[in-house]
This record gives sequence, C-alpha cells and structure tokens, in this order.
Amino acid sequence: MKYLAAYPAALRAQVETLVAEGRLGDWLSKRYGATHDIRTDRALYDYVTDLKSEFLRNAEPLSKVAFDNKLHVIRNALGTHTTVSRVQGGKLKAKREIRVASLFKEVPLEWLRMIVVHELAHMKEREHDKAFYKLCTHMEPDYHQHEFDLRLYLTHLDGGGARLWTPTLTD
Ligand SMILES: [Zn+2]
Repeated sequence: MKYLAAYPAALRAQVETLVAEGRLGDWLSKRYGATHDIRTDRALYDYVTDLKSEFLRNAEPLSKVAFDNKLHVIRNALGTHTTVSRVQGGKLKAKREIRVASLFKEVPLEWLRMIVVHELAHMKEREHDKAFYKLCTHMEPDYHQHEFDLRLYLTHLDGGGARLWTPTLTD
C-alpha cells in the first residue's frame, strides 16, 4: 500500500479488501471511462498551455512540456516542474519545463488533468502546503478524489493487476 501511505488506516483497509477480493480493477474501470487522446508532446503542450491560460494567465510562459518515460512512479515523481536559470544576453532568463510520466498517456483524462494541475500549481507555490492545494482545488475541484483514484490504480498495477487503459495500435 505504498501509494496510499498518506491516507487513513481505515481507508487503506477498505482498499486492501478490494485488492484481496480482486475487485479493485473492476471498481476503477466502472468509475472511469476511456482514456484520453493526448498522446504526443505537442498535444500535451497544447493541453497544458490551455489550462495555464485559463488559471495562471500571468505566470511566465512554459519553454517545454513533455511526456517522460524515465519518471519513476515508485519515487512518487509522477510529474516534475523545473526552472532552469541561465544567462542570456547579459540577462538572467528562467526556462520553465513541465514533465509528466508517460504512464499518463494511458489513463482517464481526469488523472492527466490532476497531474497537470499539480505541476502548474508549482509555478506559484513551491511547497506542498495549504496554499498549494488550495490552488490545485481551484483549478480542479475534484483534485483530491482524482489523486486518490490514480493511487488506487498504481496500487492495482503494483499488485500485478492488468493495465485497464492500453495504448491504441497506432502508437
Ligand atoms: Zn509537487
């Protein structure tokens, strides 16, 4: 239950029961529809910048947005937001990047939105504090539910469960 360590023990016990009865995968597929069709870095960039212009219009522009198959979900790095500062023409320029674990190519849109909202919120709030989560839930009211459900899916996969959303053959 490493993906659910931060949740109350009673809730974890319920999930353990679902896993033991082999019902977690079923429960998740009933709750969510098909996967989304944001499959390329270009499509992801457009999706992220649309959300950014809706909620964080005044934040600095993003230099790069990409799926990253090296992000390791076990270390809890589902996405990253980095600012690389470098000197350009005598001025300090910040280059902002958002990377999203490739896992998110094959999940419901709600979960992709959740991780994107998370990384966008880091453009304003560095720490995972109250202000940070307030911004997340402002951008996505069901943020916490979607994060929990994504963690259920990771738990399902970790327990040897089959992928519930698979890539299309055109990939
Ligand atoms: Zn974070």
